[in-house]
Amino acid sequence: MLKNRVAAARGYLDNLCLDAAFFLNPGNIRYLTGFTGSEGVLLLSVSEGSFLTDSRYSIQAKQEVTEFKTVEYREKLADIVSLLIEIGAVRIGFEAEHMTVAFYKAISDRLPSCELVPLGAELDTLRMIKDAGEMQLLGKAAEIASRAFLEIVDSIRPGLSESELALDLEVAMRKSGAEDKAFEFIVASGVRGALPHGKAGGKRILSGELVTIDYGVLCNGYNSDETVTLAVGRPDSRQREVYQIVKDAHAFALEGVKPGISFRELDGKARNYIEKKGYGNYFGHSLGHGLGIDIHEKPVVSSRSEGLVEEGMVFTIEPGIYLPGWGGVRIEDTVCVTVDGYRLLTKVPKDLRVL
Ligand code: ZN
Ligand code: ZN
Repeated sequence: MLKNRVAAARGYLDNLCLDAAFFLNPGNIRYLTGFTGSEGVLLLSVSEGSFLTDSRYSIQAKQEVTEFKTVEYREKLADIVSLLIEIGAVRIGFEAEHMTVAFYKAISDRLPSCELVPLGAELDTLRMIKDAGEMQLLGKAAEIASRAFLEIVDSIRPGLSESELALDLEVAMRKSGAEDKAFEFIVASGVRGALPHGKAGGKRILSGELVTIDYGVLCNGYNSDETVTLAVGRPDSRQREVYQIVKDAHAFALEGVKPGISFRELDGKARNYIEKKGYGNYFGHSLGHGLGIDIHEKPVVSSRSEGLVEEGMVFTIEPGIYLPGWGGVRIEDTVCVTVDGYRLLTKVPKDLRVL
């Protein structure tokens, strides 16, 4: 599978008439080489490739990187430059979003007769379609997270603090094989639910509140992402009403997921419904995002996105309504797009759970 990814990356070099490109972003490096460390440079030309890293990672690189020659560098910049000179590269690609201005300047000063070409969307597009191996890892990550959530959900009760809940959830995930959490969990109870990204804090959960819990694991380098909003104590009619609107919007969007639909139209399936119900001003973020090696990847599922849904994409569907001074509801699942629809990777049922 790495061979296919590298071949596709070389295809981009070819299309852009590049002699070589170098990669600094650990996510792209992992995708193309299998290296799991945090420091290294992949130098890829049309016919060759080298992976450079420092002495802390030499042994690891030799074990993990099988498709490329591994080189231990003494001075990162000097060694990249001399390798580029050695292969005679003139037009050289780099990841525009992952290089500092200082590094760019240092490289271009040392290679005055070369042309440095910024790469961006090309690589993101490459990682947008997941291969079978990635799909399996994404499925496993989502399953671990969902199972851990179901293990702890019945222990949620009035008096428990948001951060205690987050910790219980993390422990359950780690015990089930997660290597880390995918991000700082969001646990937003009561009025804090109006904060779409309200990190778990010291607030205690009270009876009569909705609690939004957004969580995910990192497992074998791949992320999961899921959000459950539940009720602690009997929900009142407004809480039920807002929950149902978000749940229906979520269901309409899921029904729309299939190859060929535009991201804009998919976003509209949920957004137009929420607008029709009078809550359009309270759903500010996009409907979803891709995920994989990074928790936020292409595509962006929003009203401003260009492009169409394709088989093999993995992204979230996460409509929400956030009412200042009242609270909020978000429901999030992760889907993988199949030939004629989708498969849910996240497993927690989304009917309103009352504890
Ligand atoms: Zn999430
Ligand atoms: Zn998300």
